[in-house]
Amino acid sequence: MKQLDVKLMHPRVQITKVISRIYKNGMTTTSGGNISILDENGDIWVTPSAIDKGTLTEKDIICVKKDGTIVGDHKPSSEFPFHKAIYEVRPDIKAVIHAHPPALVSYSIVREIPNTNIIPQAREICGAIGYAPYGMPGSEELGEKIAAEFDGKDNMAVIMENHGTVLGGSDLLDAYTRFETLEFCARTIINASAIGTPTYLNDEQINEFGKQIPHDIAHNESVAYPPEEREIRQNICSIVRRACDQGMMISSYGTVSVRWKDNDFLITPPNVARWDIMPEDIVQIKGGKAEPGKTPSRAFELHQKIYEQNPHINSIILTQPPHLMAYGTTGVKFDVRTIPESWIFLQDVPCVPFGTHFKGNDTIPELLSESVPAVLIANDSFIVTGDKLLQTFDRLEVAEFSAKSLVMGAPLGELKPINDEQIEDLRKNFLG
Ligand SMILES: [Zn+2]
Repeated sequence: MKQLDVKLMHPRVQITKVISRIYKNGMTTTSGGNISILDENGDIWVTPSAIDKGTLTEKDIICVKKDGTIVGDHKPSSEFPFHKAIYEVRPDIKAVIHAHPPALVSYSIVREIPNTNIIPQAREICGAIGYAPYGMPGSEELGEKIAAEFDGKDNMAVIMENHGTVLGGSDLLDAYTRFETLEFCARTIINASAIGTPTYLNDEQINEFGKQIPHDIAHNESVAYPPEEREIRQNICSIVRRACDQGMMISSYGTVSVRWKDNDFLITPPNVARWDIMPEDIVQIKGGKAEPGKTPSRAFELHQKIYEQNPHINSIILTQPPHLMAYGTTGVKFDVRTIPESWIFLQDVPCVPFGTHFKGNDTIPELLSESVPAVLIANDSFIVTGDKLLQTFDRLEVAEFSAKSLVMGAPLGELKPINDEQIEDLRKNFLG
């Protein structure tokens, strides 16, 4: 995750950037949540106590020196004791995030740990998760209880009983990626439980997914960047950032590609925080080979096949929005016959089994057509295609909004879809 950029950014800048992102994305309240970084000198940089998270600036960040001296305009966070306790027991942890995000707080009050086997990336990124019993906020006792869940264990995240969550990372971006991934994993399971019973992957399936990372990518020897190619890079970045702002992509997932010419295309890379993606991160695929020195998304071969077999498709988005994935993890049919817009944009969305998207399987490229622009892949993702990238993005938004209405409507009663006759009228009028 752009390790160099993050490591060269001052801890004050990193903390301010990440806390404001957490707050703006509805993952903590103004008063709840705190972040810290342990630097190379052994000093800890931490958010201040009782300062508005919505307006926090770099000069508000506090430094607690190795000898205990406090440098800054405010008092350090009242939860500073548990941050310090975690660093003492786990030398591999250099950044800590604590917050009260809604879905993980739900887990904290039903006193359970989310099962991250719901989606492969969630398991890979979140790692082992601990559970710390209740303690008085700000107390040394709470610090000890939390530290005990990190001490001598592999846990990188802990659910705090009737409180929230705390996560560690090798740097702040690593901790943030884990935080966001775990919260979205919890949202997916909660949404899935509203409409059915979530199914989980077994370890073997997750290992199979891990093996999909291409190790032998062929690279072109030279590369050219004509203006139209650069324009595609810009468009991909702005759509990825927009998808992050709309809660449809997070740091760790979401792949976008756009056809450039013939079957050549541009695609997002893995391991770059999506909300921070830059044009130079995008990977050019020409003649089936990658741009020199760059690694494309592990799904690039699937994208290649889709472009080869579907001349009408010029852009593809693959991601895991938490309402669509409620359908992708329960086997409940995602019925888009909700409102005219949904059916016109998506028609009927099939769901294919987990693994259908793996290398060498042509099911998805063959299934996609003008009348099947989108497919759900069980316990993996939603894949949507279209002509212009904005059109594909619009379809993604319509799909996630439809899924959200269905999930929200579930407690209200039975869904009454648009009937066949009405669908035929829509077909004649809009898809003719
Ligand atoms: Zn708290």
